[in-house]
Amino acid sequence: MNGRRALLALLALLAGGTPACNASPAAPTAGPPQAPASRPADPRFDDRFWRELIFNEHDAPGQGSFVRVLANPSPSVYVRLGDAGGTRRVVTDAELDHIREVLPRLAEQITGRPYDGRIESGIEERGDREGWITVRFVTPEEHPDIGASCGLATPGSDPGSIWIAGDNDQCFRNGYFRRLFAHELGHAFGLWHVGDHAAMMSEAGNDSEWFTERERYHAQLAYEVGRGAAYCGWPFGPGCAGGT
Ligand SMILES: [Zn+2]
Repeated sequence: MNGRRALLALLALLAGGTPACNASPAAPTAGPPQAPASRPADPRFDDRFWRELIFNEHDAPGQGSFVRVLANPSPSVYVRLGDAGGTRRVVTDAELDHIREVLPRLAEQITGRPYDGRIESGIEERGDREGWITVRFVTPEEHPDIGASCGLATPGSDPGSIWIAGDNDQCFRNGYFRRLFAHELGHAFGLWHVGDHAAMMSEAGNDSEWFTERERYHAQLAYEVGRGAAYCGWPFGPGCAGGT
């Protein structure tokens, strides 16, 4: 346990955050008594959900060192319509229309801010560009990392990437693509998996097309705190440093 605590402190340092969050509770305090940093100041705040959604506690306990939400809350999105190797179009009009329709609303649910990025599409590969998330429909041969999954994304990275298993019919049956796209977009905006099965970011999945109120609240809190902030319980507690 000591080793894990030390690792957390080290990760906080590496992330440019303050290790103050991990300070000993026996440390002397000056001035009037203050609420502990881990005490939620808002009844909607759920510390476990916060650690899962923002710090990857569900998939990699103790390894998520800092808030990975995007520094730019309105990244532009390029949907690559062609296949990886040539110019054959592999994305249908219905899929493209759906992305164009829901993307601004999903982005606003995550960030709590109006989305004013650009949404473009084209057959050609444009490469990764700063400020852009590129959505590619691929086969496992073209992008082996996707394996048997329906989707894959780089959490909170700029340039960002989302890969969709374009040739797997199961990923498009019964409207599943609607959930799939929202889930992967959540990753691209810096969110991780949670254990709450009702949530969009649940790995097990649900039927919803939109982020739950619980997800919106905690994701928007992370965008308020800002990229780079270390974990320290209630994000606006006295022990918490701002984002970097
Ligand atoms: Zn996922």
